[in-house]
Amino acid sequence: MYDLIIIGMGISGISAGIYAKKAGLKVLMLESSSPGGTINQIPHIENYPGFPSITGPDLAMNLFNTVNDLQIEYKLEKVTDVILEEIKTVKTTNNAYQSKYLLIASGRKPRLLPLKNIEKFLGKGISTCALCDGAFYKNQDVAVIGGGDSALSESLYLAKIVKTVYLIHRRKEFRGIEELIKKVKNTSNIKIIYDNEVTALITKKDKLTGLKLKDQDLMVSGVFIYIGSDPNTDFLHNTSLKMENGYLIVNNQYETNIPGVYATGDVIKKDIYQLITAASEGATAAINISEN
Ligand SMILES: Cc1cc2nc3c(=O)[nH]c(=O)nc-3n(C[C@H](O)[C@H](O)[C@H](O)COP(=O)(O)OP(=O)(O)OC[C@H]3O[C@@H](n4cnc5c(N)ncnc54)[C@H](O)[C@@H]3O)c2cc1C
Repeated sequence: MYDLIIIGMGISGISAGIYAKKAGLKVLMLESSSPGGTINQIPHIENYPGFPSITGPDLAMNLFNTVNDLQIEYKLEKVTDVILEEIKTVKTTNNAYQSKYLLIASGRKPRLLPLKNIEKFLGKGISTCALCDGAFYKNQDVAVIGGGDSALSESLYLAKIVKTVYLIHRRKEFRGIEELIKKVKNTSNIKIIYDNEVTALITKKDKLTGLKLKDQDLMVSGVFIYIGSDPNTDFLHNTSLKMENGYLIVNNQYETNIPGVYATGDVIKKDIYQLITAASEGATAAINISEN
């Protein structure tokens, strides 16, 4: 029996784990993929105080080292179901665990375009992670789809590796951080295609060769999609947790509508989805739980 189980070892879950452990709680963290979460996919971290120049994987490693230094218990197991009674039961693919409190910090997953065969080409021409897959397209032409900060910063990263980045944006101008927009516009091998949309994948013998846009065909070997994300809440299907568009609703203590169940980071409905907010929410929730 644990005091607190934390689902997700992104920056929010790990920050909560640190504060909970230091407050003397018996805590268990569960992670389905890599400790550090989304950070592992970010080539260059922006806006995190004290780290003017750090890669995502390095920051993820720093966080993981802290988990190990503090001997915070964790297991690399995917949560598949939860039962939220007075005692919380968390089922994973292999086991079931119980705790007095539960913190959901399961983050978000990248959204794909609703195109025929898109899932089939994921990892084979289609990617949502420039850091993971960019090197496969050295000196080739790729497309980035999106118009937010992620699409802009990932285009800049890819421009250093590939021959040409075609940045396809459905609006007539970008709405991201001004500095990023300027850098993108000043990078000679980033070609911006405004006011356009992808209507289909072009494939040849099971290989992605390009994209059909509204008014042209664009031949590229790789396509990187940054059009937003959806919260990871599938494993909450058996609960009556309050959500809006899949995002968990919490109060200013980060508690959900079910007593003893908290949620923080990208999985909650809020205004700012950044590392600093995810970390601070995790820490605050753990302090609130430890003071109960
Ligand atoms: C491309 C990109 C670039 C970004 N760049 C920046 C930046 O430069 N600066 C900045 O401040 N922010 C940036 N952000 C935003 C920032 O990365 C997020 O706000 C932050 O990482 C969210 O942390 P989190 O802990 O809430 O979620 P995550 O980091 O997503 O962690 C959630 C964890 O939960 C795990 N999980 C999910 N479901 C389950 C399950 N069923 N069982 C067990 N584990 C599960 C996941 O595997 C994951 O490890 C960027 C985001 C993206 C997508």
